[in-house]
Amino acid sequence: MRAITFQAPGQVQVEDRPEPELESADAAIVRIEASGVCGADLHIYHGRVKIEPGFTLGHEFVGTVTAAGEEVTRVKAGDRVLGCFHTACGTCFFCLRGAYHECDAKRTFGHGANMGALQGTQAEQALVPAANLTLRPVPQSISDEVALFAGDVMGTGYHAINDGQVKPGDSVAVLGLGPVGLCAVQAAIAAGAGPVVAIDTVEDRLDMARQFGAVPVHLTEQSPRDAVKEATAGRGVDVAVDAVGHPDALELGIRLARKAGTVVAIGVYAERCEVHMGLVWIKGLAVKAGPANVIGHVDRILAMLEAGTLDPTPLVSRHMSLDDAVEAYAVYDRREALKIVLTP
Ligand SMILES: [Zn+2]
Ligand SMILES: [Zn+2]
Repeated sequence: MRAITFQAPGQVQVEDRPEPELESADAAIVRIEASGVCGADLHIYHGRVKIEPGFTLGHEFVGTVTAAGEEVTRVKAGDRVLGCFHTACGTCFFCLRGAYHECDAKRTFGHGANMGALQGTQAEQALVPAANLTLRPVPQSISDEVALFAGDVMGTGYHAINDGQVKPGDSVAVLGLGPVGLCAVQAAIAAGAGPVVAIDTVEDRLDMARQFGAVPVHLTEQSPRDAVKEATAGRGVDVAVDAVGHPDALELGIRLARKAGTVVAIGVYAERCEVHMGLVWIKGLAVKAGPANVIGHVDRILAMLEAGTLDPTPLVSRHMSLDDAVEAYAVYDRREALKIVLTP
């Protein structure tokens, strides 16, 4: 089967790979019908997150189950399913407390040996371990490209808002309007937040945030601090979300949050970085960080997608073939698309 593999920083290719086989009774094989290219893939593409050459990339997928082990009860062969971007065991200390994203046996698709040695989903087929937790049937009214968001990007945007304990009437600032940031804007609006201040430098992304109901603020042509002050009677926002994964965004989030507010760092961090702890301390901020608990959120996300409360359709800006992998990664790297959906 064909698959997109990592070769070296800045280099991916379409390769012929062996077809996956059921390796355990809790696993399923999925024929991939749509897969996303994601900011997390770019961290690998840039060499910031290290994986082995030849490893299959990708972790967002929708497809049809072609085979399932005997312990798999929630989906069966022939079902259209969406996958979460990682697996969880369901029985460890963390899973029993609902923290599936910190499962001791977590395996992330397409992230190399360090993160569970689970081949990625930018391929014609994928092996899905722990299928009862990792897969969900897709409700009939939801398209493949919308369902694709439930197992990662929308789950991650929602996680930031959920982790920030955003309540109706809360003010929110979202820093970085990539797909996750824009989904966080939607989730904040859906949670009843207002004002929601959306900060980026790309006009199209600011426009989209405005359409979702946010107050767009250009990072460099405007003053985010003034805009937030103006929107919050000088206090700062209740919750600031760093959807970039860069110390500058985190620092700005710390400055934009009100006293006794919350900062959520949902963007990816893979290295040591400096935080102005004096500001965090004197303002009495709660800082939350980490990967999203998409398995914990996925059923709620699907319900909101089905109801139309959340709708990531405007974020899908390119459809490409698996064979166009090199071009797809280059386009995404140049920020020319918000979300690329690959089909085999
Ligand atoms: Zn992703
Ligand atoms: Zn677990």
